[in-house]
Amino acid sequence: MAGKLRPLRIPVNTFPTFRRQLSTTATRFSISSSPQIFHDVPPLRKYRRDLLLSNRTVGLVPTMGALHEGHLSLIRQAAAENTDVFISIYVNPTQFGLNEDLTSYPKTWESDLQLLRTLDEELASSSDNKGRITAVFAPSTTTMYPGYPPDSSIPGTGSFVTITPLSRLLEGASRPVFFRGVATVCMKLFNIATPDRVYFGQKDIQQTAVIKRMVQDFHLGTEVRIGPTAREADGLALSSRNVYLGARRRAVGIVLNQALRKAEAQYLAGKRKRADILWPANEHADNVLLEQDALGPRQRARFEVDYISLADPETMEEIEEVDETKGAVLSGAIKMLPIEESQEGEDLGVGGGRIAVRLIDNIVLEPLKV
Ligand code: AMP
Repeated sequence: MAGKLRPLRIPVNTFPTFRRQLSTTATRFSISSSPQIFHDVPPLRKYRRDLLLSNRTVGLVPTMGALHEGHLSLIRQAAAENTDVFISIYVNPTQFGLNEDLTSYPKTWESDLQLLRTLDEELASSSDNKGRITAVFAPSTTTMYPGYPPDSSIPGTGSFVTITPLSRLLEGASRPVFFRGVATVCMKLFNIATPDRVYFGQKDIQQTAVIKRMVQDFHLGTEVRIGPTAREADGLALSSRNVYLGARRRAVGIVLNQALRKAEAQYLAGKRKRADILWPANEHADNVLLEQDALGPRQRARFEVDYISLADPETMEEIEEVDETKGAVLSGAIKMLPIEESQEGEDLGVGGGRIAVRLIDNIVLEPLKV
């Protein structure tokens, strides 16, 4: 990027002339092993302010940990566009409904840190002019919710950010407090880290729409950047929750991506009307469901389709016909139900097949170039 500064990781034995060329900003930052870990707000604020005074740029990647290649690809993108990448790792209670899987959400702090260190070494050795992972923010819940304890009930007592009607649609219809929790925690993180850019995955496309709207409506001084969905070889979108699937539900769970791709093929073949685009997706999901139902409880992996949607890319409202100048979003959600009866030695995944797993996915139908 034009005008981008190199990250200030200065080897102790760097040739002296070169060190002088790096100007006084070099002395502001220690040669510590990257990244630094912050649990509290004031030290991170101070660190961020020093970066600002040195004309460095910060890209923030908010996560709930249990990192996988989807997160890492966002971090690489952030490192390509900023001198400093901040990662937040915080499992935010207010986005989980009272009946949802907050306690069972995977927490893998040590391996997450190891992944980040390895990725940072990769960034350091890269010949491109890239940024580095310089801060990991891992706050406690009392730090993030200093007033009232976090409340996940629908009436919800406390300070919240609500983005409606977007947050009531699709994922929000099934998870009524979800986007309120996401918008609230992101507002907090953005205020703490004051990032130049924030990075979100297309995997959670409605979340990206909510965040863009929040940034616009509250005049937040950050740029929202969206990274593509990282997938398994067969197309399954990577997700921290996939560890719960086990082999049987993993094999059937691809149904959602297959269904969306069938709908996408209709659009690419020139279809524009909702019914024409969506019917093969619904038919595919119905057929796979029938196939599974016909099997016995020791073989099958049953699921419920929550929605298969064709929506406007900004409002996420359902549309009857795709406007070629805007394109559209095909998205869906299914719930893989718990395994009914296991087989001897079967790979049931974390949780022994007892945890229902919600899978979401989407495909953007690109506008036609005029
Ligand atoms: P999470 O830890 O699930 O809250 O996700 C943190 C960020 O990573 C969000 O912006 C997600 O959209 C993004 N993300 C999750 N899965 C993927 C994926 N498979 N590909 C790209 N980004 C992803």
